[in-house]
Amino acid sequence: MPELPEVETVRRGLDPYVAGARIDKVTLRRKDLRFPFPEGFSAALEGQTILSTGRRAKYLLFRLSSGRTWLSHLGMTGTYRFEDFRFKEPSRYYEPTEYRKHDHLVLDLTHPGHGTMQLIYNDARRFGFMDLFEDEQQSPWLAGLGPEPLSNAFNAAEMAERFRGKKAPMKAALLDQRVVAGLGNIYVSEALHRAHIRPEVPAGKLVLKSGQPSRRLEDLAEGVRTVLLEAIDAGGSTLRDFRAADGNSGYFQHRFAVYDREGEPCPTPGCRGTIRRIVQSGRSSFYCPVCQH
Ligand SMILES: [Zn+2]
Repeated sequence: MPELPEVETVRRGLDPYVAGARIDKVTLRRKDLRFPFPEGFSAALEGQTILSTGRRAKYLLFRLSSGRTWLSHLGMTGTYRFEDFRFKEPSRYYEPTEYRKHDHLVLDLTHPGHGTMQLIYNDARRFGFMDLFEDEQQSPWLAGLGPEPLSNAFNAAEMAERFRGKKAPMKAALLDQRVVAGLGNIYVSEALHRAHIRPEVPAGKLVLKSGQPSRRLEDLAEGVRTVLLEAIDAGGSTLRDFRAADGNSGYFQHRFAVYDREGEPCPTPGCRGTIRRIVQSGRSSFYCPVCQH
C-alpha cells in the first residue's frame, strides 16, 4: 500500500511529463474505481492544461487551467504509466500500445516538450478513487486534514496542544489525520523507533504540565520528518526516468528499521534489543523493547 513517500515519489515522477501538458482526450474504461468517477469527469478534464502537480497527505493533485483540481488516491494498487502512441500503417491513425488488464483511465496528452503520449491509470484491486474540486476546503477528502508532516505547520508545539491530557496510545494519536496528515501504519512505527518512544505510551505523557512539548515530543516531530524524508530520498534514487524501463510508477522497496522485522536485531547503534510486534486496534506495531520507552 503506497504511503506518503511513495505517493510523493509518484508525483515527482509524473511532474516533468504532465505539468504543462494539455489533456486532449479522456477514456474511462469503466464507470467506477472504489467509488464512481465524478459526474462529468471526462468533460472537466478534456481540453484543460495541467498547470502543476501537488500532493496533500496521500492524495495526488493535478491543478487544471479551469481552476479546478483533479484528485487521485492510489488506494492499494493504483499506478500510473506512460505509453507512446504507435503510428499504425497503413490506416495511419494513432493507436496506443495494447491495454493491460486493470487499465481503467487513459488520458491522451500533448506536452510542449515531450509531444503526445498516453497516461494510463491501472488499479487491480480498485481501492483507488478520483475526485474533482474547486476549493480544497470543499473537498471531503482534504477538509479537516491536519498539517503536512513536511511543512512548518507540523511541529512539537502543535502536537503538544493536540496531545495534552490524552490517554490514547502514541500509535493511535499519530495515526489521527487531524494531528498530522498522511502518516500511515508503517511510518508511525518507524518514527516512534527513531524517537525511542514506545507505541503504547499515552500521548499526554509527552506534554509538560505547562502545556509545552517535552524534549521527547520534539524528538518525535523530528523523527516523523526524518523517516519520511529518508524514504522520499530512497524513492527518488530508484526513480530514474519515469518513462524508461517499463514506464511504470511501481512502488519502491524501502528498507525499514523496525516495520515487519519481528525477531530481528534492533538497528539502533549499540542496542542489543530484538524487534517485537504487538497488535494495537487490529494493526501491527513494531518496536524495540530495549531502546524505546
Ligand atoms: Zn533498540
